[in-house]
Amino acid sequence: MPTLSVHQKPATGRFGDFGGRFVPESLVPACDALAAAFHEAWTDPAFRAELDELLEVYAGRPTPLTPARTLSARLGVELLLKREDLAHTGSHKINNVLGQALLARRMGKHRIIAETGAGQHGVAAATAAALLGLECTVYMGERDIERQQLNVLRMTTLGATVVPVTTGSRTLKDATNEAMRAWVADVDGAHFLLGSVGGPHPYPTMVRELQSVIGNEARTQSPYVPDVVVACVGGGSNAAGTFAGFIDTTARLVGIEAAGGAAMTDGSPGVVHGARSMVLQDAEGQVAEAESIAAGLDYPGIGPEHAFLGATGRAEYYAVTDDEVVAAVRRLARAEGIICALESAHAVAWVLREAGGPLLPTGSRVVLTLSGRGDKDMATLGAVA
Ligand SMILES: *Cc1c(COP(=O)(O)O)cnc(C)c1O
Repeated sequence: MPTLSVHQKPATGRFGDFGGRFVPESLVPACDALAAAFHEAWTDPAFRAELDELLEVYAGRPTPLTPARTLSARLGVELLLKREDLAHTGSHKINNVLGQALLARRMGKHRIIAETGAGQHGVAAATAAALLGLECTVYMGERDIERQQLNVLRMTTLGATVVPVTTGSRTLKDATNEAMRAWVADVDGAHFLLGSVGGPHPYPTMVRELQSVIGNEARTQSPYVPDVVVACVGGGSNAAGTFAGFIDTTARLVGIEAAGGAAMTDGSPGVVHGARSMVLQDAEGQVAEAESIAAGLDYPGIGPEHAFLGATGRAEYYAVTDDEVVAAVRRLARAEGIICALESAHAVAWVLREAGGPLLPTGSRVVLTLSGRGDKDMATLGAVA
Protein backbone atom coordinates (compact mmCIF):
# COMPACT_ATOMS: atom_id res chain seq x y z
CA MET A 1 0.00 0.00 0.00
CA PRO A 2 1.65 3.30 -1.02
CA THR A 3 2.17 5.69 1.85
CA LEU A 4 2.92 9.39 1.74
CA SER A 5 6.46 9.75 0.48
CA VAL A 6 9.15 10.04 3.10
CA HIS A 7 10.51 13.35 1.89
CA GLN A 8 7.37 15.28 2.69
CA LYS A 9 5.85 16.52 5.92
CA PRO A 10 2.14 15.95 5.26
CA ALA A 11 1.06 18.40 7.93
CA THR A 12 2.56 21.40 6.20
CA GLY A 13 2.40 20.48 2.54
CA ARG A 14 5.98 21.65 2.04
CA PHE A 15 8.51 20.08 -0.29
CA GLY A 16 11.66 21.75 0.99
CA ASP A 17 11.33 25.42 0.02
CA PHE A 18 8.42 24.67 -2.28
CA GLY A 19 4.72 23.97 -1.95
CA GLY A 20 2.70 25.31 0.95
CA ARG A 21 -0.57 27.12 0.74
CA PHE A 22 -0.82 30.65 -0.64
CA VAL A 23 -4.56 31.21 -0.78
CA PRO A 24 -7.14 33.78 0.36
CA GLU A 25 -8.05 33.45 4.05
CA SER A 26 -11.52 32.28 3.02
CA LEU A 27 -10.10 29.13 1.42
CA VAL A 28 -7.93 28.00 4.34
CA PRO A 29 -10.70 26.09 6.16
CA ALA A 30 -11.73 24.41 2.88
CA CYS A 31 -8.13 23.33 2.20
CA ASP A 32 -7.83 22.04 5.78
CA ALA A 33 -11.08 20.10 5.47
CA LEU A 34 -9.96 18.65 2.15
CA ALA A 35 -6.57 17.61 3.55
CA ALA A 36 -8.24 15.90 6.50
CA ALA A 37 -10.87 14.20 4.32
CA PHE A 38 -8.27 12.94 1.87
CA HIS A 39 -6.02 11.58 4.62
CA GLU A 40 -8.96 9.83 6.21
CA ALA A 41 -10.20 8.39 2.90
CA TRP A 42 -6.77 7.34 1.70
CA THR A 43 -6.17 5.34 4.86
CA ASP A 44 -9.66 3.78 4.74
CA PRO A 45 -9.56 0.36 3.05
CA ALA A 46 -13.21 0.73 1.99
CA PHE A 47 -12.47 3.94 0.05
CA ARG A 48 -9.40 2.39 -1.54
CA ALA A 49 -11.36 -0.71 -2.53
CA GLU A 50 -14.10 1.39 -4.12
CA LEU A 51 -11.57 3.46 -6.08
CA ASP A 52 -9.59 0.39 -7.13
CA GLU A 53 -12.76 -1.23 -8.41
CA LEU A 54 -13.68 1.81 -10.49
CA LEU A 55 -10.15 1.98 -11.87
CA GLU A 56 -10.49 -1.64 -12.93
CA VAL A 57 -14.06 -2.06 -14.18
CA TYR A 58 -14.59 1.50 -15.45
CA ALA A 59 -11.22 3.01 -16.36
CA GLY A 60 -9.63 -0.18 -17.71
CA ARG A 61 -6.73 -0.62 -15.28
CA PRO A 62 -4.18 -1.98 -15.06
CA THR A 63 -2.93 -0.47 -18.30
CA PRO A 64 -0.30 -2.63 -20.01
CA LEU A 65 3.46 -2.14 -20.03
CA THR A 66 4.30 -2.62 -23.70
CA PRO A 67 7.82 -3.39 -24.94
CA ALA A 68 8.67 -1.07 -27.85
CA ARG A 69 10.53 -3.81 -29.70
CA THR A 70 11.35 -2.05 -32.97
CA LEU A 71 12.51 1.20 -31.41
CA SER A 72 14.47 -0.66 -28.74
CA ALA A 73 16.39 -2.59 -31.39
CA ARG A 74 17.08 0.54 -33.44
CA LEU A 75 18.05 2.76 -30.52
CA GLY A 76 20.09 0.23 -28.54
CA VAL A 77 18.06 0.75 -25.34
CA GLU A 78 15.34 -1.39 -23.79
CA LEU A 79 12.19 0.70 -23.92
CA LEU A 80 8.99 -0.22 -22.06
CA LEU A 81 5.88 1.94 -22.55
CA LYS A 82 3.37 2.43 -19.73
CA ARG A 83 0.15 2.72 -21.69
CA GLU A 84 -2.00 5.44 -20.09
CA ASP A 85 -3.29 6.10 -23.63
CA LEU A 86 -5.41 2.98 -23.15
CA ALA A 87 -7.23 4.25 -20.05
CA HIS A 88 -10.83 5.48 -20.38
CA THR A 89 -11.02 9.00 -21.86
CA GLY A 90 -7.59 8.42 -23.39
CA SER A 91 -5.15 9.57 -20.74
CA HIS A 92 -3.97 9.29 -17.15
CA LYS A 93 -6.32 12.11 -16.12
CA ILE A 94 -9.07 9.58 -15.33
CA ASN A 95 -7.04 8.29 -12.32
CA ASN A 96 -7.14 11.65 -10.61
CA VAL A 97 -10.73 12.61 -11.39
CA LEU A 98 -12.21 9.32 -10.21
CA GLY A 99 -10.39 9.63 -6.90
CA GLN A 100 -11.34 13.26 -6.32
CA ALA A 101 -14.95 12.76 -7.42
CA LEU A 102 -15.34 9.84 -5.01
CA LEU A 103 -13.82 12.02 -2.29
CA ALA A 104 -16.17 14.90 -3.14
CA ARG A 105 -19.17 12.61 -2.78
CA ARG A 106 -17.82 11.25 0.50
CA MET A 107 -17.48 14.85 1.77
CA GLY A 108 -21.14 15.47 0.96
CA LYS A 109 -20.47 17.83 -1.95
CA HIS A 110 -23.03 17.94 -4.74
CA ARG A 111 -20.95 19.84 -7.28
CA ILE A 112 -17.55 19.78 -8.90
CA ILE A 113 -15.69 22.83 -10.18
CA ALA A 114 -12.80 22.24 -12.56
CA GLU A 115 -10.38 24.32 -14.60
CA THR A 116 -9.31 23.24 -18.05
CA GLY A 117 -6.92 24.39 -20.77
CA ALA A 118 -7.22 22.26 -23.89
CA GLY A 119 -10.23 20.56 -22.34
CA GLN A 120 -8.71 17.17 -21.53
CA HIS A 121 -9.05 17.61 -17.78
CA GLY A 122 -12.48 19.19 -18.24
CA VAL A 123 -13.66 16.12 -20.17
CA ALA A 124 -12.22 13.79 -17.53
CA ALA A 125 -13.85 15.78 -14.70
CA ALA A 126 -17.20 15.83 -16.55
CA THR A 127 -16.88 12.06 -17.04
CA ALA A 128 -16.32 11.34 -13.34
CA ALA A 129 -19.12 13.74 -12.39
CA ALA A 130 -21.54 11.99 -14.75
CA LEU A 131 -20.56 8.59 -13.37
CA LEU A 132 -21.06 9.62 -9.76
CA GLY A 133 -24.11 11.86 -10.20
CA LEU A 134 -22.43 15.18 -9.37
CA GLU A 135 -23.03 18.53 -11.03
CA CYS A 136 -20.02 19.80 -12.94
CA THR A 137 -18.95 23.34 -13.86
CA VAL A 138 -15.82 23.70 -15.97
CA TYR A 139 -13.98 27.04 -16.32
CA MET A 140 -12.29 27.42 -19.66
CA GLY A 141 -10.58 30.38 -21.33
CA GLU A 142 -12.48 31.93 -24.22
CA ARG A 143 -9.50 31.42 -26.53
CA ASP A 144 -9.31 27.74 -25.61
CA ILE A 145 -13.05 27.32 -26.18
CA GLU A 146 -12.57 28.60 -29.74
CA ARG A 147 -9.60 26.30 -30.32
CA GLN A 148 -11.02 23.16 -28.70
CA GLN A 149 -14.61 22.88 -29.93
CA LEU A 150 -14.63 19.09 -29.82
CA ASN A 151 -13.77 18.92 -26.13
CA VAL A 152 -16.37 21.59 -25.34
CA LEU A 153 -18.97 19.39 -27.05
CA ARG A 154 -17.74 16.36 -25.13
CA MET A 155 -18.17 18.19 -21.83
CA THR A 156 -21.67 19.45 -22.62
CA THR A 157 -22.66 15.99 -23.90
CA LEU A 158 -21.56 14.62 -20.53
CA GLY A 159 -23.85 17.14 -18.84
CA ALA A 160 -21.26 19.67 -17.67
CA THR A 161 -21.63 23.45 -17.82
CA VAL A 162 -18.71 25.16 -19.54
CA VAL A 163 -18.12 28.72 -18.33
CA PRO A 164 -16.07 30.94 -20.69
CA VAL A 165 -13.31 32.92 -18.98
CA THR A 166 -12.76 36.33 -20.56
CA THR A 167 -10.08 37.73 -18.26
CA GLY A 168 -6.33 38.02 -18.93
CA SER A 169 -4.96 35.85 -21.70
CA ARG A 170 -8.27 33.89 -21.76
CA THR A 171 -6.39 30.58 -21.37
CA LEU A 172 -5.59 28.04 -18.64
CA LYS A 173 -3.98 30.25 -16.02
CA ASP A 174 -6.97 32.60 -16.04
CA ALA A 175 -9.41 29.68 -16.05
CA THR A 176 -7.64 28.33 -12.94
CA ASN A 177 -7.96 31.72 -11.20
CA GLU A 178 -11.68 31.85 -12.03
CA ALA A 179 -12.27 28.29 -10.86
CA MET A 180 -10.62 29.12 -7.52
CA ARG A 181 -12.84 32.21 -7.23
CA ALA A 182 -15.92 30.08 -7.92
CA TRP A 183 -14.80 27.70 -5.19
CA VAL A 184 -14.54 30.59 -2.71
CA ALA A 185 -18.15 31.48 -3.58
CA ASP A 186 -19.41 27.95 -2.88
CA VAL A 187 -16.92 26.26 -0.53
CA ASP A 188 -19.63 24.27 1.23
CA GLY A 189 -21.38 22.84 -1.82
CA ALA A 190 -18.53 22.45 -4.26
CA HIS A 191 -15.30 20.51 -4.52
CA PHE A 192 -12.56 22.11 -6.62
CA LEU A 193 -11.24 19.25 -8.73
CA LEU A 194 -7.75 20.40 -9.69
CA GLY A 195 -6.21 18.60 -12.66
CA SER A 196 -2.52 18.36 -11.79
CA VAL A 197 0.02 18.38 -8.95
CA GLY A 198 -0.02 22.17 -8.51
CA GLY A 199 -2.16 24.33 -6.27
CA PRO A 200 -2.29 24.72 -2.50
CA HIS A 201 -1.80 21.84 -0.07
CA PRO A 202 -3.22 19.16 -0.17
CA TYR A 203 -3.55 19.11 -3.98
CA PRO A 204 0.07 18.32 -4.93
CA THR A 205 0.19 15.39 -2.50
CA MET A 206 -3.35 14.19 -3.15
CA VAL A 207 -3.02 14.22 -6.94
CA ARG A 208 0.38 12.50 -6.79
CA GLU A 209 -1.09 9.77 -4.60
CA LEU A 210 -4.06 9.33 -6.95
CA GLN A 211 -1.68 9.08 -9.92
CA SER A 212 0.79 6.79 -8.12
CA VAL A 213 -1.20 3.87 -9.55
CA ILE A 214 0.78 4.48 -12.77
CA GLY A 215 4.19 4.01 -11.16
CA ASN A 216 3.09 1.27 -8.79
CA GLU A 217 1.68 -0.80 -11.64
CA ALA A 218 4.72 -0.19 -13.83
CA ARG A 219 7.05 -1.21 -11.02
CA THR A 220 5.18 -4.51 -10.62
CA GLN A 221 4.90 -5.10 -14.37
CA SER A 222 8.53 -4.33 -15.18
CA PRO A 223 10.77 -7.41 -15.09
CA TYR A 224 13.56 -5.29 -13.59
CA VAL A 225 14.22 -2.00 -11.85
CA PRO A 226 14.87 0.26 -14.86
CA ASP A 227 17.87 2.57 -15.16
CA VAL A 228 15.69 5.48 -16.23
CA VAL A 229 12.03 6.35 -15.71
CA VAL A 230 10.82 9.13 -17.99
CA ALA A 231 7.56 11.05 -18.38
CA CYS A 232 6.40 14.33 -19.87
CA VAL A 233 5.70 17.27 -17.55
CA GLY A 234 3.02 19.91 -17.85
CA GLY A 235 1.80 20.52 -14.32
CA GLY A 236 3.56 17.25 -13.61
CA SER A 237 0.88 14.75 -12.53
CA ASN A 238 1.63 11.80 -14.81
CA ALA A 239 5.33 12.22 -14.06
CA ALA A 240 4.71 12.50 -10.30
CA GLY A 241 2.54 9.40 -10.35
CA THR A 242 5.15 7.52 -12.35
CA PHE A 243 8.04 8.68 -10.17
CA ALA A 244 6.15 7.68 -7.00
CA GLY A 245 6.50 4.02 -7.94
CA PHE A 246 10.28 4.30 -8.34
CA ILE A 247 11.29 7.03 -5.87
CA ASP A 248 12.84 4.50 -3.49
CA THR A 249 14.77 2.65 -6.20
CA THR A 250 18.04 3.35 -7.99
CA ALA A 251 16.17 4.42 -11.15
CA ARG A 252 16.96 7.91 -12.44
CA LEU A 253 13.77 9.98 -12.66
CA VAL A 254 13.53 12.17 -15.74
CA GLY A 255 10.84 14.76 -16.52
CA ILE A 256 10.52 16.30 -19.98
CA GLU A 257 9.04 19.75 -20.49
CA ALA A 258 8.10 21.68 -23.60
CA ALA A 259 10.87 24.08 -24.63
CA GLY A 260 8.25 26.88 -24.72
CA GLY A 261 7.01 26.11 -21.20
CA ALA A 262 10.07 24.83 -19.36
CA ALA A 263 9.48 26.01 -15.80
CA MET A 264 12.38 23.92 -14.47
CA THR A 265 14.93 25.08 -17.05
CA ASP A 266 13.83 28.66 -17.72
CA GLY A 267 11.72 29.51 -14.67
CA SER A 268 12.54 30.84 -11.23
CA PRO A 269 10.97 30.37 -7.79
CA GLY A 270 7.63 32.12 -7.41
CA VAL A 271 4.06 31.63 -6.32
CA VAL A 272 1.40 30.54 -8.78
CA HIS A 273 -2.10 29.22 -8.10
CA GLY A 274 -1.56 28.75 -4.40
CA ALA A 275 1.87 27.10 -4.23
CA ARG A 276 5.49 28.18 -4.28
CA SER A 277 7.26 26.45 -7.14
CA MET A 278 9.26 27.08 -10.28
CA VAL A 279 7.42 29.48 -12.57
CA LEU A 280 8.02 31.20 -15.88
CA GLN A 281 7.80 34.90 -15.06
CA ASP A 282 8.86 38.26 -16.39
CA ALA A 283 11.15 40.77 -14.65
CA GLU A 284 8.21 42.14 -12.62
CA GLY A 285 7.28 38.67 -11.40
CA GLN A 286 4.21 38.46 -13.62
CA VAL A 287 3.44 34.90 -14.70
CA ALA A 288 4.52 34.55 -18.32
CA GLU A 289 2.69 32.80 -21.15
CA ALA A 290 3.86 29.33 -22.12
CA GLU A 291 3.83 28.29 -25.78
CA SER A 292 3.80 24.66 -26.90
CA ILE A 293 2.35 22.59 -29.72
CA ALA A 294 0.97 20.33 -26.97
CA ALA A 295 -1.89 22.17 -25.29
CA GLY A 296 -1.51 20.06 -22.13
CA LEU A 297 2.05 21.29 -21.59
CA ASP A 298 1.18 24.92 -22.29
CA TYR A 299 1.45 25.86 -18.62
CA PRO A 300 3.91 28.34 -17.07
CA GLY A 301 4.26 26.50 -13.75
CA ILE A 302 5.05 23.03 -12.45
CA GLY A 303 4.02 21.14 -9.32
CA PRO A 304 6.10 22.03 -6.24
CA GLU A 305 7.29 18.48 -5.65
CA HIS A 306 9.04 18.56 -9.02
CA ALA A 307 10.74 21.84 -8.05
CA PHE A 308 11.96 20.06 -4.93
CA LEU A 309 13.04 16.86 -6.71
CA GLY A 310 14.92 19.01 -9.21
CA ALA A 311 16.58 21.16 -6.55
CA THR A 312 17.77 18.12 -4.61
CA GLY A 313 18.94 16.31 -7.73
CA ARG A 314 16.67 13.29 -7.23
CA ALA A 315 15.00 14.02 -10.56
CA GLU A 316 16.34 15.56 -13.76
CA TYR A 317 14.41 17.83 -16.10
CA TYR A 318 15.07 18.53 -19.76
CA ALA A 319 13.19 20.24 -22.58
CA VAL A 320 12.44 19.23 -26.17
CA THR A 321 11.22 21.37 -29.06
CA ASP A 322 7.94 21.21 -30.98
CA ASP A 323 9.81 19.92 -34.06
CA GLU A 324 11.34 17.06 -32.08
CA VAL A 325 7.90 16.24 -30.67
CA VAL A 326 6.17 16.06 -34.06
CA ALA A 327 8.95 13.80 -35.37
CA ALA A 328 8.60 11.61 -32.27
CA VAL A 329 4.84 11.10 -32.74
CA ARG A 330 5.44 9.96 -36.31
CA ARG A 331 8.39 7.73 -35.50
CA LEU A 332 6.59 5.98 -32.63
CA ALA A 333 3.49 5.52 -34.80
CA ARG A 334 5.41 3.93 -37.66
CA ALA A 335 7.72 1.81 -35.52
CA GLU A 336 5.22 0.54 -32.94
CA GLY A 337 1.72 1.24 -34.27
CA ILE A 338 0.89 3.61 -31.41
CA ILE A 339 -0.24 7.20 -32.00
CA CYS A 340 0.51 8.98 -28.75
CA ALA A 341 -0.52 12.44 -27.60
CA LEU A 342 1.76 15.37 -28.43
CA GLU A 343 2.30 15.75 -24.67
CA SER A 344 3.47 12.16 -24.26
CA ALA A 345 5.68 12.49 -27.33
CA HIS A 346 7.92 14.86 -25.35
CA ALA A 347 9.21 11.88 -23.37
CA VAL A 348 9.59 9.84 -26.56
CA ALA A 349 11.47 12.69 -28.26
CA TRP A 350 13.98 12.84 -25.40
CA VAL A 351 14.67 9.10 -25.67
CA LEU A 352 15.08 9.39 -29.46
CA ARG A 353 17.48 12.32 -29.04
CA GLU A 354 19.59 10.97 -26.19
CA ALA A 355 19.76 7.20 -26.83
CA GLY A 356 23.40 6.17 -27.16
CA GLY A 357 24.64 9.45 -25.66
CA PRO A 358 25.86 10.32 -22.15
CA LEU A 359 22.35 10.96 -20.77
CA LEU A 360 21.03 7.60 -22.00
CA PRO A 361 23.90 5.18 -22.68
CA THR A 362 23.47 2.18 -24.97
CA GLY A 363 21.94 -0.73 -23.08
CA SER A 364 19.89 1.47 -20.73
CA ARG A 365 16.60 0.03 -19.54
CA VAL A 366 13.88 2.66 -19.77
CA VAL A 367 10.29 2.83 -18.54
CA LEU A 368 8.45 5.63 -20.34
CA THR A 369 4.95 6.76 -19.43
CA LEU A 370 2.83 7.34 -22.51
CA SER A 371 0.38 9.71 -20.83
CA GLY A 372 -2.29 9.76 -23.55
CA ARG A 373 -3.46 8.91 -27.03
CA GLY A 374 -3.07 11.16 -30.04
CA ASP A 375 -6.53 11.21 -31.65
CA LYS A 376 -7.12 14.74 -30.35
CA ASP A 377 -3.95 15.95 -32.08
CA MET A 378 -4.56 14.77 -35.63
CA ALA A 379 -5.64 18.18 -36.93
CA THR A 380 -2.60 19.82 -35.34
CA LEU A 381 -0.30 17.19 -36.74
CA GLY A 382 -1.91 17.39 -40.16
CA ALA A 383 -1.20 21.12 -40.28
CA VAL A 384 2.54 20.55 -39.72
CA ALA A 385 4.66 19.66 -42.74
C1 LIG B 1 -3.00 16.97 -19.41
C2 LIG B 1 -2.02 16.07 -20.05
C3 LIG B 1 -0.64 16.10 -19.73
C4 LIG B 1 -0.04 17.11 -18.80
O1 LIG B 1 -0.43 17.01 -17.46
P1 LIG B 1 0.51 16.48 -16.29
O2 LIG B 1 -0.18 16.95 -15.07
O3 LIG B 1 1.86 17.06 -16.48
O4 LIG B 1 0.55 15.00 -16.41
C5 LIG B 1 0.18 15.17 -20.33
N1 LIG B 1 -0.28 14.27 -21.22
C6 LIG B 1 -1.58 14.21 -21.56
C7 LIG B 1 -2.02 13.19 -22.54
C8 LIG B 1 -2.49 15.10 -20.99
O5 LIG B 1 -3.79 15.05 -21.34
